[in-house]
Amino acid sequence: MNLPDPYAVIGNPIAHSKSPQIHARFAEQTGHVISYERLLAPLDAFKRTVRDFIAAGGCGANVTVPFKLEALALADQLTPRAEAAGAVNTLKFTAQGILGDNTDGVGLVNDIVSHAGVKLEGRRILLLGAGGAARGVIYPLLAQQPAQIVIANRTLARAEELVSHFSQASGKLVAHELNDLPEAFDIVINATSASLSSELPACSPTIFAPHTFAYDMMYGAAPTVFMQFASQHGARVRDGLGMLVEQAAASFLLWRGVMPETASVYQMLREQL
Ligand code: NDP
Repeated sequence: MNLPDPYAVIGNPIAHSKSPQIHARFAEQTGHVISYERLLAPLDAFKRTVRDFIAAGGCGANVTVPFKLEALALADQLTPRAEAAGAVNTLKFTAQGILGDNTDGVGLVNDIVSHAGVKLEGRRILLLGAGGAARGVIYPLLAQQPAQIVIANRTLARAEELVSHFSQASGKLVAHELNDLPEAFDIVINATSASLSSELPACSPTIFAPHTFAYDMMYGAAPTVFMQFASQHGARVRDGLGMLVEQAAASFLLWRGVMPETASVYQMLREQL
């Protein structure tokens, strides 16, 4: 019998992570023999935790809060999307060293395009927030050829920094004040952490129209305050559970060379929320 290939999700805290459940389903479905555990890394010992896991035979790991920047620094090689994101959420351990990837952005795009059925090409996108999650999705969003991405953030300077970071996309990316957005967008993505404290980013409801698709990266059993606000103003809404499942699927693809089916895993998690 084959011994399972070991994988893990590393974070602090980590007890809440749904990744072991998601990857167990992917493995079952594809017939791959893997194990997948939660690893709580001490705040000052991310690197040691990774090295110990590799020494124990680890093949790859997901990385979550607060270690995505340390994972970037630890990787010997980065995928272009990890480099653009400036953060790593997936590590693959190979004979050549540690490969760092970032699957959050492609997870968001796959969920919007394939599951919500919303095309991004030629559309005007409003991205709310300029933190790690916002930065991580810009490169995969640009790859979909939108007409424009407006980044609006409470602290305007951080949105401006993001725009200058992606200077090769000049013209397509624009920074804007959060509370002074005059018109409706095709797609509005909430990448702020406001929903975590049941707050709304201070933007006017005029950003929504009946054709608007509004996405909150946060998810939960009930619609977030942002989703409620958007649907009250006519938008169609979706939360970030699909992004979670899709980023995991993209990690599985990187590790195992096969893209798992995600719809049934999404459904299972939705029923458990
Ligand atoms: P960061 O701490 O890096 O950034 C937070 C951002 O939110 C900043 O732009 C900040 O603005 C803004 N913000 C916070 N509170 C408010 C508020 N009350 N009003 C307006 N803006 C506010 O967080 P992350 O980027 O890492 O995470 C953002 C969200 O994305 C989280 O909710 C996280 O759970 C979610 N996420 C979901 C994933 C999924 O798979 N579904 C994956 C990754 C993230 P300022 O710069 O002014 O402080």
